[in-house]
Amino acid sequence: MSLDATWVSVLACPRCKGPLTVASPLSLWERAGVRDCAPSPAPDELHCVTCRLAYPIREDVPELLHEEARPLVPSGR
Ligand SMILES: [Zn+2]
Repeated sequence: MSLDATWVSVLACPRCKGPLTVASPLSLWERAGVRDCAPSPAPDELHCVTCRLAYPIREDVPELLHEEARPLVPSGR
């Protein structure tokens, strides 16, 4: 991954100007203990927990546009 903490620290949510966190789908898979059947690497996302929005990163370029964000919804377990 070419994203590092320093790089992310200069980014802010375009909506609330709050900090963003990088969410790697791969690490989520690992945390779920299913690394054996992990899918091909998906793009990382930048999450704003305040707005509950996930901004996609396409080819290492964050799409910090409200229209591009998808809502972070609880997984409804
Ligand atoms: Zn926000």
